[in-house]
Order: sequence, then C-alpha cells, then structure tokens
Amino acid sequence: MTKIYQIFIVQITHYLTKSSIFVSTTLINKTTMSKMRFFALQELANRRPIQVDYPTQKLSEYYGAHVFDRKKMQEFLPSEAYKAVINAIEKGIPFNREMADMIANGMKSWAKTFQVTHYTHWFQPLTDGTAEKHDGFIEFDDEGDIIERFSGKLLIQQEPDASSFPNGGIRNTFEARGYTAWDVSSPAFIVDKTLCIPTIFISYTGEALDYKTPLLKALAAVDKAATAVCRMFVPDVKRVHANLGWEQEYFLVDTALYNARPDLCITGRTLMGHSSPKDQQLDDHYFGSIPPRVTNFMKELEIECHKLGIPVKTRHNEAAPNQFELAPIFEDVNLANDHNQLVMDLMKRIATKHKFTVLLHEKPFKGVNGSGKHNNWSLCTDTGINLFAPTKTAEGNMLFLTFVVNVLMMVYKNQDLLRASIVSAGNSHRLGAAEAPPAILSIFLGGHLTHMLDEVAERLGDAKLTADEKKALQLGISRIPAILLDNTDRNRTSPFAFTGNRFEFRAAGASANCAASMIVINAAMAHQLNEFKAQIDALIAEGIEQEEALYKVLKETIIASKNIRFEGDGYSEEWKEEALKRGLTNICHVPEAIMKFNAPQSRSVLLDEKIFNENELICRIEVELEKYTKKVQIESRILGDLAINHIVPTAVIYQNRLLENLRGLRETFSPEEYEELGSDRKALVKEIQQHILAIKQLVREMTEARKISNRLGSQVEKAFSYEEHVSPYLEKIREHIDHLELEIDDEIWPLPKYRELLFTK
Ligand code: ADP
Ligand code: MG
Repeated sequence: MTKIYQIFIVQITHYLTKSSIFVSTTLINKTTMSKMRFFALQELANRRPIQVDYPTQKLSEYYGAHVFDRKKMQEFLPSEAYKAVINAIEKGIPFNREMADMIANGMKSWAKTFQVTHYTHWFQPLTDGTAEKHDGFIEFDDEGDIIERFSGKLLIQQEPDASSFPNGGIRNTFEARGYTAWDVSSPAFIVDKTLCIPTIFISYTGEALDYKTPLLKALAAVDKAATAVCRMFVPDVKRVHANLGWEQEYFLVDTALYNARPDLCITGRTLMGHSSPKDQQLDDHYFGSIPPRVTNFMKELEIECHKLGIPVKTRHNEAAPNQFELAPIFEDVNLANDHNQLVMDLMKRIATKHKFTVLLHEKPFKGVNGSGKHNNWSLCTDTGINLFAPTKTAEGNMLFLTFVVNVLMMVYKNQDLLRASIVSAGNSHRLGAAEAPPAILSIFLGGHLTHMLDEVAERLGDAKLTADEKKALQLGISRIPAILLDNTDRNRTSPFAFTGNRFEFRAAGASANCAASMIVINAAMAHQLNEFKAQIDALIAEGIEQEEALYKVLKETIIASKNIRFEGDGYSEEWKEEALKRGLTNICHVPEAIMKFNAPQSRSVLLDEKIFNENELICRIEVELEKYTKKVQIESRILGDLAINHIVPTAVIYQNRLLENLRGLRETFSPEEYEELGSDRKALVKEIQQHILAIKQLVREMTEARKISNRLGSQVEKAFSYEEHVSPYLEKIREHIDHLELEIDDEIWPLPKYRELLFTK
C-alpha cells in the first residue's frame, strides 16, 4: 500500500515538473485581468533549450560561404568583369553597362547555387534599421515566356519611393523618387533565399537620405587629410583607412513575457516596473556562465554571422541580468558598419527561434545598466602603420603623437557635434545615469601618455631646440611603447578612451547606426588634420623648417586641447563641477544637443568637408528632432493607455477586495475591535485612492501637454516642448504605478514584473 502511494507521489511530482499546464490553469482561472502574465509564465516554465550544433565543416571552410567575395567573383565572373569590379573597389573606377550585366549574371549564378529566388537593394535609411524590398528574379522574355533574369541595371540602381522614409523635407512632394545605388566596396550576401546588395540611398536630386552616403564621404575626407599629414613623415603613404570594431550590448527577454508587456513591445523599453529585490548588485552576471538557452542562441548567431563573413569573436554576459555583449574583429569602417546593421537584424531573427526577444534599446529597464555600443576606432596607412599605435622608433612615435594630439583637439573642438551624433530618446536615459559615460565629452589617455604629452609640450620651448634637446626629446618619445606596455590603465568611465592602439567611443547607444558617430568622428578628424597641416604649411611658408614647424604646432595643440583630457572618475559629481570650470559642455537636453549639428564649428566640419550640403544638414536635424518627438509621443501614449486601462482598473479591483474585507470585519467585530483591526486596510484603501487620482490627473495633464506640443508650428518647437513638457510626466506617472505594484496583490497584477523579465533562463 505504501509503495503504491509512493509511486503515485513520484508520478505527480514528475507530472508537475514536466508540465506546468496543471499549475497554470489553476492560476489563470483565478483571474482574467492577469491572464497574459500567467500565460507567459506558464510558457516560460515549459521552455527547453533548442540544441544547436556547429557545422561539421571547419569554421575556416564555411566562413563567408554566403558572401559574394573575391574568391566567388573569380569563380563566377569572366576575367574582364572581375577586373572591372576590383578596379571599382580599389580605385573607384566606374564600369560600363556591359560589365554590369556580366557581374549581375555571375552574381545570380552564384546565388542560384543556394536556391536564391529574390534579390534586394539593402540600404540604411534614417530609421532604426535597414530597409529592403524583395524582387523575384522572375521576368517575361521577348516571347512572353517567364525567365529568371537579373540585369546589370537592376544590380546597379533601383528607385524606391523616398517619401516613405524619413527625409526631413528633402523630397519635394512632386518628386518622390529616390535612388539606391550599389556600394561596390561592400560585398553582396545571401540571407534566407534573398540576394542582398548593399546600396546607398539618395533622393532624386542626389541628396543623401541614408547613413552610408555621408559615411563614405567622411571616410574619403579622413583618408585624404590623414594621408597628407602622414606624408610629412612617411612619403610613400598613399591611403589611410579607418577601422571600426564595435561591441554590441543587448538584453534578451523571453518572448512570452515580452508579449505580455505592451510598453516593451511598442517602445522597446519598460515604462513601469518596480525594481527587482535582486538585480545587478551582487555583480554576479558580468562574465558569468551563460545559461544554456542563451548559449544556443549565441551559437546559432555566431554560425550565421560567420557564414556571412562577419568576424564575430567575443561573447559574454554583461553587467545587468540578461544582458550580453557580442564583438567582432575590427574591419574597415564601412564594412564593419554594414556588418553591425546585419548583426542587429540577425539577432532579432535568430532570437525568435529560441523564443527570446532581443532588446537593443539603450535603457530597457530602470535601475539596471543600459546598453551601449562601443566604437573602437583607428586609422591605418596602406603601408601597414596603425597611426594610434606607438612604435619602437622616435620617428614612428612622432607620427603616433601627431595623430593622438590631433584626436585630442578634434574631440575638444567638436564635443557638441560628437554628442549630437549619439543623442536619442533612448540614449538620453543611459548617458550620465551613473553607469554609462556622462553627457560630458572627455578623453582618457592613461597616466603615462598624459605625462609624456605634458613633458613634450614643456620641452618644446618657444626657442629653437638645440641638438641635445632634440635628442633628449626623441629619447623620451621612443620610450612610449615600453611605457604603454606597462600601462594597464583602464578607465571604464571615460566616453572616449585611448586603449593602447585605438580610441574607444563609448557614448554611442546600443540601437544606433554606428555610422552616426563614425561620420562625425572621421569628418571632424579630417577637418582637424587639415587645419593642423595648414598651420604647419603656413609656418613653412614663413621660412621655418618643417621639423620646427611641426614641434611648434604640436606644442600649441597639446596646450590648447588640455582641458579635454580627464583621467578621473567620469561618473562622479566632482567631474561635473570640474568640467564646468574647464568650460566643457554637458548637454542633457536631447533637442538642444541635436541642434548642435547646426553650431558654427559643426557646420564648418560637415559643410567644409562636404559631408552634407546645407539642405542635407538641415534635413538631417529635422529627421532627428522628429524621431525624438515621435518616440516620446509614442511612449506617452502607451503609458497613458496602460495606466488608465490596465493599472487603474487593477487598483480598483484590489481596492474593492479591501473594502469587502472591511465590510466583513465590521459585520463580525465590535466597532472598537473593527477600528483597530481595519485601520491598516483603511489606510491602504486611501493610499491606493491617492495613487489612482494622481495617475488620472497626471495622464490628463500629459495628454494636454501633448496636444499643445503637437499644435506648435516647427519641428524644433515640437521637440523642445516634448522634452520639456511631455517627457517629465513619464517618470511622474511611473512613480505612482511602481508604488501600486508593491501594494497590490501579485495574483492580479497584469504585467510581468522586473524579477520575472530579468531572470528568465
Ligand atoms: P574591451 O571590452 O576590452 O574593450 P573587446 O575585445 O570586447 O574589448 O572589444 C574590442 C574591440 O576593439 C574588438 O572589436 C576589436 O576587434 C577592436 N579593436 C582592436 N584593435 C583595434 C584597432 N586597432 N582598431 C579598431 N578596433 C580595434
Ligand atoms: Mg570595449
């Protein structure tokens, strides 16, 4: 008898652990309000890792399999067409229509080996992602029969409707056409059964409507300017290219829980939610062991990235629970940026298979770290010199110092432009929030390099250096690599840090297109190098020797840019005060920061270097302001909806339960006993009532503020009004809701809580 009973118990336990349906149906029957949340938790209990195995081939064998790279070009193109593409990539020489047809045909033949049915021009409009319109290879031939065709014309250019993408007014209503044109420097690739051709996107009038066009211009500008400076030292330098190694941070949330949070689904972040008793305070997530469901997702993502020739290398847990990071080996900026765009897209698709949703928002959860995207940037010559890496020789290090000093000056002069390139509705919750770089721009160099710069500036007296002084200086300079090897300084609080052979711009947001900051950094560097060279040339024209002229300008630049150097804790309050004294700006107001694109210094960088024309610049500002306004508008609307239609009714239900309870107490006990027993519940009823009233009042006021803002005439006024008059309500309303979450019975709370969202394994 006991034995049978024991078996029964074992079976029941087995049933309970195997299937949570039994558990959840009881929960669901209890209430209809919290249905979504409990359904989601039930689904979560049933999750099992989806096993992913590595391909049987070696990584080196399947790496780049889905890319039309040089090897495939050689295989699938006639030799003259192959040469034409290589000339276009390397020398920018255009090819004719006949060649284009040959290239398209070869590309199609290669794509057919993967049963590809469609092709698309893949571009980066000014939205938060890429755009693609798929067309089949299907066409009628002259006899009216169906054939599969992909012509050179279709490869090179398409005409999507520009009016459906953010354009800030560039598009005239009578001419909505836009053009996409193949960027030969970025190879075509296959995703699913579609051949993707990376393109730029411009208006009918030739103005840029995307990120890629100005990025290519900025890269060309920095190439030209840096090459000219390099040649003062190394005459055989012909080209300088910029590299980018991005580090992508992201959160994973179980898809069922995500779907039960309308705020997450609609805005990418939680607009309410009381903090979890445990989040990141134990520092136990960073570099911790990766849960199996996540490992399988990462594995599949990596395999797909490698097939697409994206050299992802590093993966680890980040500081916040459920936060992770992925980083590749650095590449040329244009390619690295395409790859980052592609990765963000791949992540989302692959996560869906594993029942995860990827959050790229900069601050999906209040109170825990947000997500950034570090941009590791360097400049390299075609002769193989990394201009941000010290060498063993004094001459090499003069080149290194020259470039480092110009970076200092570039950031110093263009703090506002750099900030303008990374501000957004999402990033504004992250910057300056004691876990990310502040909105103040500064550069960390490490103690030794800082000391070296000061020493160099000091030694370079105004008078001409004697031979001995020169020797001493060179000796000092040649010590740089040894010093840097010892120098393990790592300052994680700096927005722009020197990390041994590159600069790391850490202020960019996780969801941003890397091009936004790369356009500005490379354009500003080009501008700075041009000014630096012009100063030296002017001195040479006065009869000063090149070496002396260089020393003189270097010294002046080191001194003039000194205020941008900061080695201390960038998150501290003291730094804010100190930065203010130094005259560094700290703009947390999003539209105000965006308007700095139009400040005199920014204009001279962007217009002089021909990154934008006047019209493009104004339109870009309009697009950014509009994006910001609309994002806050959407957040405000969904918060209003959730507050009034989900939270307040839940609060009323709970209040009624309390009132019911109070009635029972009054019927059962004497008035004196009732007074005593019911006092806490009465207080709670009142407190809930106060929160309800406050929420309703604040939502009314917020709606009114929105209406007023919407009626304003210009985009600037609207954005300023949203920042100043609408945005503050989001936090105020949230405070009341988060209090209610603590007070109301968990059983009827409709939205998954932080402790559930953040700890899904
Ligand atoms: P950490 O987190 O310590 O900053 P990671 O390894 O996560 O370092 O990321 C460093 C990134 O910097 C990688 O993408 C790496 O390829 C890139 N990187 C390394 N050297 C350079 C360089 N010279 N120029 C540009 N990027 C670089
Ligand atoms: Mg880093």
